[in-house]
Amino acid sequence: MSEMRELYQEVIIDHHKRPRNFGKLEGANRHSEGYNPLCGDRVTVYLRVEGDRIQEVSFDGSGCAICVASSSVMTETLKGKTLADVEALFGKFHDLVTGPPDETAATEGLGKLAVFGGVREFPVRVKCAILPWHTLQAALRQSDEQVTTEQP
Ligand code: ZN
Repeated sequence: MSEMRELYQEVIIDHHKRPRNFGKLEGANRHSEGYNPLCGDRVTVYLRVEGDRIQEVSFDGSGCAICVASSSVMTETLKGKTLADVEALFGKFHDLVTGPPDETAATEGLGKLAVFGGVREFPVRVKCAILPWHTLQAALRQSDEQVTTEQP
């Protein structure tokens, strides 16, 4: 487990310092903005979707290290994926970060996203990690409403 924890720290620091796919996406045909008031994270996800496939994806905004790193790894993972793949990944990622801390996370098929299994040990950080995914879902639904992790 300590190896996983080290990897978790490494990936978060790396992607926070040098976020991948950061900035507005030229030619995006969908986007959505997300907000996590508990932490102050704001993220906008931009997508270029053609047919049932995500051709390009980027994000911008400002947030804590976990939120930025999660957004960055998410965008790396999503490029070229079909909408069905994305749905499946979201389900797995959700289970990964919200699972019981005393259980080993199921990481099959998650690739680099698996390091976020470390988040389940820090419940206040779960919303930071999952915000970009909720924002992505909203962008795919083409909703212009702002997403928040809090229910009204
Ligand atoms: Zn945060």
